[in-house]
Amino acid sequence: MSTKQPEARAPTSEHPVRSGFTGHCPRCGKGKLFDGYLELAKTCTHCGLDNDYVDAADGPAVFVVLFAGFLIVLMALLVEIYYMPPYWVHAALWAPLAIIIPLGMLRPLKGALVGVQYKNSAKEARFDKDGTKS
Ligand SMILES: [Zn+2]
Repeated sequence: MSTKQPEARAPTSEHPVRSGFTGHCPRCGKGKLFDGYLELAKTCTHCGLDNDYVDAADGPAVFVVLFAGFLIVLMALLVEIYYMPPYWVHAALWAPLAIIIPLGMLRPLKGALVGVQYKNSAKEARFDKDGTKS
């Protein structure tokens, strides 16, 4: 993780988490946050915010597994309870959705977590030489 912190916060016209969720810069809400599917842009194309401070780590994947897993299992249970289809119908329905739903959720959740980090000035916890947490 980089120890570099985001520059001073300029007022945003939009909520940073919402901006991140839609793939836009958490500071200005206009520039692109991503350079690729999940690769963050080095800097914002509009305001120049350096995205080096960001480290979403495994956070988006954890939320995707929790949300998508719950959703798919719930849908599978409801289909089984109400329609009792043969097992191949379950495989044909849920296997593709188990790929499509997480892939669709991953980028917005990563963007939202970047927005949360920006909004809360998140930084890596460190201990000083005297043992105090900074
Ligand atoms: Zn920006």
